[in-house]
Amino acid sequence: MEFINSHPSEEVLERYLFESLATQEVEGVEEHLLVCHSCIASAEQILAFVNSLRTTLGEKPKVRRASSAGLDRETESSFS
Ligand SMILES: [Zn+2]
Repeated sequence: MEFINSHPSEEVLERYLFESLATQEVEGVEEHLLVCHSCIASAEQILAFVNSLRTTLGEKPKVRRASSAGLDRETESSFS
């Protein structure tokens, strides 16, 4: 498809990785990735970034739960 001759943008790669591309676009990106190692590298970089972001975000709720329990009580008591 059209992506074979031109690199999909980082945004398109992101949407491909997040499965928010139209089926036609997915086919084009996949065909391009089969022949383009630099875009595979870009996709892997995006994936690594997203995974580290998810790890970071996954750790936050624990911290927030512990601290917000105290904060909520303080806020409630100061408001009432
Ligand atoms: Zn490419």
